[in-house]
Amino acid sequence: MLWLARIPASYDVRAGHFALVFQTSDFPTSDSYFLTFRLRSFAYLCIMNTADLLQRALHFEFLSLEEGVHLYHYADTASLMFVANELRKIQVPSGKVTWQIDRNVNTTNVCIANCKFCNFFRRPGHDESYITDIETYKVKIEETFRLGGDQLLLQGGHHPDLGLAFYADLFKKLKELYPNLKLHALGPPEIAHVAKLEGISHTEVLSTLKAAGMDSLPGAGAEILNDRVRRLISKGKCGGKEWLDVMRACHQLDITTSATMMFGHVETIEERFEHLVWIREVQSEKPEGANGFLAFIPWPFQDDGTLLKRLRGISNNVTADEYIRMIALSRIMLPNIKNIQASWLTVGKTTAQICLHAGANDFGSIMIEENVVSAAGAPHRFTANGIQQSIRAAGFEPQLRGQKYNYRDLPEHLEEQVITY
Ligand code: SF4
Repeated sequence: MLWLARIPASYDVRAGHFALVFQTSDFPTSDSYFLTFRLRSFAYLCIMNTADLLQRALHFEFLSLEEGVHLYHYADTASLMFVANELRKIQVPSGKVTWQIDRNVNTTNVCIANCKFCNFFRRPGHDESYITDIETYKVKIEETFRLGGDQLLLQGGHHPDLGLAFYADLFKKLKELYPNLKLHALGPPEIAHVAKLEGISHTEVLSTLKAAGMDSLPGAGAEILNDRVRRLISKGKCGGKEWLDVMRACHQLDITTSATMMFGHVETIEERFEHLVWIREVQSEKPEGANGFLAFIPWPFQDDGTLLKRLRGISNNVTADEYIRMIALSRIMLPNIKNIQASWLTVGKTTAQICLHAGANDFGSIMIEENVVSAAGAPHRFTANGIQQSIRAAGFEPQLRGQKYNYRDLPEHLEEQVITY
């Protein structure tokens, strides 16, 4: 094992200062690639100019991984917010902030992936394990409609016995019962798991699910795409390359997707920016006319009671300032993704409101039900009225939307949600 020193450095001609910082990296590694990468980063950091990078960002240039890392270390928060807000005003010029009403329903909590940040799953055979039955879906869907929602965000675990037929039958049944219901369902790790169980390709799984009624695929399970990180926190899930391959297959089939990043745990700053660059590359490959990644949603790791915290002492280390900076840097690093969402569920109302001035244009869903991130301590809640008031208080006009960012009229009789979770 070799401990590496992290040596970010910068010479900013206009600001007239030279900064050299030595910091021990979080994790030991013997990976020579990593050493080469760090040295290359150091060389770049020495010659980069913060003001030039911000100017290039304002022209929608793709900044490199190293340039993103430089901005992370040396650009002040006000400058990042200014540039990201300018980009947002060009990409989403309406002055509106979109929001959504949907419900996260879990197909099953049985999972064999064993992610170290997850308190939601149960092992097969556990007393509290379940597979949601159709009667339960009916109750939840009808309540969702009454509360103005039009969509289920369907997620579950890697159940060892639930293959393609289970999900295709479920989607067909739900669409037969509720033809107007939208299904934003599963995620790349679940698609990879089903493909493995069935011995077929991602494309075959996705085509079957699309034909059965799947409307879009959430960017779930991305965490940080670098496999060093995935080995530490979620080694039962698909690797980073496979996650990206599933998304490529979606885009070829014109299935709209989103992308996410859960950060602030064991990853390095370089690995965060590598994640952004990989997502941007896949977006660049999407066929003309396809939505590809319609949105990017970064959120900080929620640590409460997780194995990562209990066994490794890893806590959520993301401050409000850092979250706002990462929202701004997401807008800057991803000029080919139109919508950036602030995660009020994990960072709270006030920080999320500031993010609307730092490149974010979307507040996501009020989430009538959410059981996965909440199980790790995400404490914040919104009703339909609450989310709209909060958007107005931040200086924007709230606009209800569907999953594909289509504007929806507010239902005439919108029953207010009673928050119970
Ligand atoms: S995060 Fe998803 S894949 Fe990982 S253990 Fe939890 S349910 Fe399973």
